[in-house]
Amino acid sequence: MVNFASHIADAAQETRIRALIEKAASTSRLERDEILALLRANTGQAEGLFAAADQVRRRTVGDSIRLMGLLEFSNFCRRNCVYCGIRAENDRLERYRIPSDEMLRICERMRDLGVDAVLLQSGEDPTYACDVLCNLIEKIRKDVGLAVTLSIGERPGKEYGAYKEAGAGGFLLKHETADSSLYSKLHPGMSFFDRLNCLYELKKLGFEVGGGSMVGLPGQSLSSLADDAILLRSLEIDIATIGPFIPAQCTPLALEGERWRFRPAPVLSVSNKKETVAEFVLKLLALTRLLLPNVHLVANTALASLLPQGREIGLRAGANVLLPNFTPPKCKELFWVFDDRICTRETPEETIASIRKLADKLGRQVM
Ligand code: SAM
Repeated sequence: MVNFASHIADAAQETRIRALIEKAASTSRLERDEILALLRANTGQAEGLFAAADQVRRRTVGDSIRLMGLLEFSNFCRRNCVYCGIRAENDRLERYRIPSDEMLRICERMRDLGVDAVLLQSGEDPTYACDVLCNLIEKIRKDVGLAVTLSIGERPGKEYGAYKEAGAGGFLLKHETADSSLYSKLHPGMSFFDRLNCLYELKKLGFEVGGGSMVGLPGQSLSSLADDAILLRSLEIDIATIGPFIPAQCTPLALEGERWRFRPAPVLSVSNKKETVAEFVLKLLALTRLLLPNVHLVANTALASLLPQGREIGLRAGANVLLPNFTPPKCKELFWVFDDRICTRETPEETIASIRKLADKLGRQVM
């Protein structure tokens, strides 16, 4: 027997989702419950969300794919984030620092391959004092001619000011999760509000500020994903990078994942299939594009590591930025934030060639 009531409910749900996508695309505004409804959209409906984000991306930031060459220059870290493989207490990891002159040579290689911006990333490594970093930023700006974005964690506001004066244009500091109590559990000795204060300070100083979060953390609820999107919007983030949580061996979160299911019936959990986590990443990317139409949205290494076609599906769901990795091979392997990162063997030339091929396939250009 045909269940008419259920057909009518399904049709009403389809209509509501279509109306919400339309509203988001035309006004860049959604209430929290509306964001949640879109996060709950079924796979078919999600396609409509991705298509709308793709259209907004074309209208706002255009068809160019922006590249930032990633240089992971130190895997020393004073922090103990329970999900991250380079945490201080992981004594099974060999540590490295790339000397400044080698970093400059790598930046020259980026420039020669047509990449005009570098993302300098490290653990929170106090050995790189403020003056050392300022000197490096100046050289990369003046001698090599690249734009510089930093991703070096929390520092005092005065230091952020010095980096800006030295010529750094961007600063990436992900909030990781907008659930402040989950944040505290994941980041021993750190505070969500300190993180936010750093982001406010960076904004005040005029940086192009990068933010973002992870999806699929044990204990993460669907409503906290809605809060991630709302927070990125309220911070008026300029660059957003949202990717999957991927377990890293030797971290408390990978080893003790079960213990972390402290929320009743979490929507996402370590046992979730890759495809489920990827779908939520894409929904959050698409929502971020709709709520912040001009944002530079990254299809990040974690997404590309989770699924072989991660870059492509990210670029189809609103993203316009890729981060080809220029870290030397040995160091790339040791920047072990999570297991099975892609490209550990690929040369930068090969990565750039495959990005150009992908851009051709999508009818887009590489900037
Ligand atoms: N120290 C800098 C900071 O605090 O912003 C940046 C370095 S941190 C290693 C870079 C990013 O790696 C983090 O923002 C986090 O989102 C990501 N990350 C670390 N562990 C991860 C994991 N297991 N799965 C996915 N992403 C992870």
